[in-house]
Amino acid sequence: MSMQVRDFDIVIVGAGPAGLTAALYAGRNKEHAVLLEGKAPGGQLLNTELIEDYPGIASILGVDLAEIMTKQAADFGTEIAYGADVQSIHVRPDGMKEIETTAGLYRAPALILTAGGNPRKLDVPGEAEFAGRGVSYCAVCDGAFFKEVHLAVVGGGDAAVEEAVFLTRYASKVTIIHRRDHFRAQPILMEQARTNPKIDFITDTVVESIEGDASVQRLELRNVVTGAQSSLDVGGIFIFVGFIPNTKLVDAHVDHDAGGYYVTNPMTMMTSVPGIFAAGDVRSQLTRQITTAVGDATTATIAASKWVEEWKRGREDSEAELEDVMVSGA
Ligand SMILES: Cc1cc2nc3c(=O)[nH]c(=O)nc-3n(C[C@H](O)[C@H](O)[C@H](O)COP(=O)(O)OP(=O)(O)OC[C@H]3O[C@@H](n4cnc5c(N)ncnc54)[C@H](O)[C@@H]3O)c2cc1C
Repeated sequence: MSMQVRDFDIVIVGAGPAGLTAALYAGRNKEHAVLLEGKAPGGQLLNTELIEDYPGIASILGVDLAEIMTKQAADFGTEIAYGADVQSIHVRPDGMKEIETTAGLYRAPALILTAGGNPRKLDVPGEAEFAGRGVSYCAVCDGAFFKEVHLAVVGGGDAAVEEAVFLTRYASKVTIIHRRDHFRAQPILMEQARTNPKIDFITDTVVESIEGDASVQRLELRNVVTGAQSSLDVGGIFIFVGFIPNTKLVDAHVDHDAGGYYVTNPMTMMTSVPGIFAAGDVRSQLTRQITTAVGDATTATIAASKWVEEWKRGREDSEAELEDVMVSGA
């Protein structure tokens, strides 16, 4: 059976908040665009309970916001291809991008990468079971749900320490649990944490399991030096042991930072590869939020539209030049 090949002007990869916003703007601009999604639309919104920091909406469930964003994007006419899991992306020498998916091959001169990513997990018993019920990967998102609760923060980098300090706004106490005794976090952040009366530290220690009933109540811990086991009563655990961006799809080299996030031009969201734009959680930037994802995607889509126009004009010009050459025989 031959593989289905479809041509577009813009292909958007991943239907989280960034991809759905790109689809919305592409639809309103009457672009010939398609949004490819491997799973269900909504991205990380589908793993999120309540959202209270999206302007204009006081409080909404992640799944409900995903549904509204998807309908709004589809209403403006951009095709959304579900079950189109992108396997690899090849950049041809003429600049055309070939996107191989589980639903056939797509081609376009412009590509907007919005494949997001996932927080790195601890992979311990109870983590998946209590996700959204005391296990969180986002302090800005979920901190306010833990007023006057003793929380644990796991990790030793900037994110863990910074978020632990942030969580003291709400929590009665924050215990930072780190598997080493040395922290990678910047000294200034460590200073803030060490002088904060609500924060204490447990070092050389890993979380072995997360226990509770309706929600998290206790952590089982193990000291990696002595082997001693202990438990810690907490009402929630925030895990900051890294984030893995989905940035391994393109076969050409796209500039990225040390964490693997795409580096983009801040004016246009274009990456180092002409015609490849990036928006949302795949992009190298200070924070990863729904508001930033939709902002990036707005810029990326408008820039991609302009870029496609230029690209087509360039092609026409070079075809005309080629015709001139052929007619004149030069
Ligand atoms: C538990 C949790 C709670 C959060 N709460 C909040 C909050 O309250 N407020 C807030 O502002 N932010 C919150 N965030 C952060 C927010 O969800 C993200 O910043 C946002 O979803 C990023 O959007 P995105 O479109 O860049 O990526 P994502 O939401 O990650 O979407 C990426 C999409 O790409 C798809 N995809 C990936 N690879 C492929 C492929 N190869 N082929 C096809 N499709 C692919 C995925 O299936 C997914 O649908 C939270 C995050 C988490 C994990």
